[in-house]
Amino acid sequence: MNRHAEYDAIVVGGGPSGSTCARFLTAAGWRVAIVDRAAFPRVKLCAGWLSEPVWEALGMSPDDYPAGLWPWERCHVAYGGTRHTARVRGYFIRRYEFDDFLLRESGADLLTDRGVKRAVRHDDGTWVLDDALRAPYVIGAGGTHCPIARAIAERRPKPPVGVQEREFLAGAAEVADTRVGEDGEPELLIHDDLRGYSWNVPKSDWLNVGSGTVSAREVRAAWQRARGYFEREGHLPPSAAEELERVQGHSYYLFHPHHLQSCHKGGALLVGDALGLAHPITAEGIYPGILSARIAADALRRGEPERYRERLEAHPAIANFEVVFHAREWGARLASRGGGRRADTAQPQRGGRASSGVSRIGRAALAHGFAHLFAGGVLPGAKLARHVAKAAARAVPVESDSQAPPPASRSAG
Ligand SMILES: Cc1cc2nc3c(=O)[nH]c(=O)nc-3n(C[C@H](O)[C@H](O)[C@H](O)COP(=O)(O)OP(=O)(O)OC[C@H]3O[C@@H](n4cnc5c(N)ncnc54)[C@H](O)[C@@H]3O)c2cc1C
Repeated sequence: MNRHAEYDAIVVGGGPSGSTCARFLTAAGWRVAIVDRAAFPRVKLCAGWLSEPVWEALGMSPDDYPAGLWPWERCHVAYGGTRHTARVRGYFIRRYEFDDFLLRESGADLLTDRGVKRAVRHDDGTWVLDDALRAPYVIGAGGTHCPIARAIAERRPKPPVGVQEREFLAGAAEVADTRVGEDGEPELLIHDDLRGYSWNVPKSDWLNVGSGTVSAREVRAAWQRARGYFEREGHLPPSAAEELERVQGHSYYLFHPHHLQSCHKGGALLVGDALGLAHPITAEGIYPGILSARIAADALRRGEPERYRERLEAHPAIANFEVVFHAREWGARLASRGGGRRADTAQPQRGGRASSGVSRIGRAALAHGFAHLFAGGVLPGAKLARHVAKAAARAVPVESDSQAPPPASRSAG
């Protein structure tokens, strides 16, 4: 008797990427298992913001979503001491509910509270996980430290970004008293040194507050400064102080064209954070995770897993990520040529130039541009920029990455 439970595909990780991939496979009649080390519903550190294109990638409408949903049509962005309000739209959810919903909708066998330790590809081309589950295909959707990514992913050229946050019950009246805008409208604070941003998001009686920085080493100090800013401005209820001592951290990889080399290898496909797909500026990760999962499932359904990378790269959203990535790199190079002076993040300045040396008009443009990207907007001129981006991507230097998961422990055969 076979000692392995047999599936058509096994998905490692039941976050939005894993559940979506499984849902599109089971809809085509595939027998799929999702294995997740957590018992659901589970806490996932995340602000829970969704840009509009998420729904199309999910193949759902916001009306299909039965749990807490906070649509917003204005985004409040503070930068260099001035606050700007942009008319852009999006949604907030609570990951505790959203991930559980998607997991239950997946139609897969749910093997939760069960971490995958070992993934081995056998000579017959099948994957065996922990000597218990076997399938011809395995989908690595286990986030930053996904064991399938450890088995097949190339070394990442840049270190991951660092994020600290807390979501907690604060009471509807207290939350409402401290709001910049309406319920569900995000308040964002762009750090003066442009190396990250912080957020303060009301979800009725819940608050979600946190900071992210391009280097994980900078996040704690940036969070302290951002917290000071929100408190000075009266945008946090005094009762939140104790909860805010309990912020937790996580790190994940922003999109880099180099990551796409690891899309597929020998029947293993990586999606979402396991591949490293978050937006190069806003760090939005749910949408690219869901999108990549759907494209991976589509490639598998067509019997063309080797074409997953090509299809992902060809998608307009991912093509735009590539453009944004290179725009960010050029911007960073220009800034360092201009002296690269680091500003005291989140110190309010009144009028004139911010400490980062950006003019008043420049600050407004930056704040509105950021809100546009935050709502899932794209940079113009994508077609031309993409040609340039492709040429630049061919010469990507590999930087040291001390905080990344170990490169390719290669249990894959
Ligand atoms: C503080 C913070 C705030 C963020 N805010 C936003 C936001 O507002 N909007 C947005 O779009 N993005 C946000 N992101 C990014 C977003 O959370 C991720 O990009 C997104 O969760 C990726 O989804 P995923 O399904 O690929 O991975 P995950 O959601 O990380 O899911 C991975 C799953 O794999 C499981 N797993 C891990 N290892 C194993 C193992 N060995 N065996 C079995 N299971 C395993 C985990 O338990 C987890 O359930 C934020 C990230 C952080 C850290």
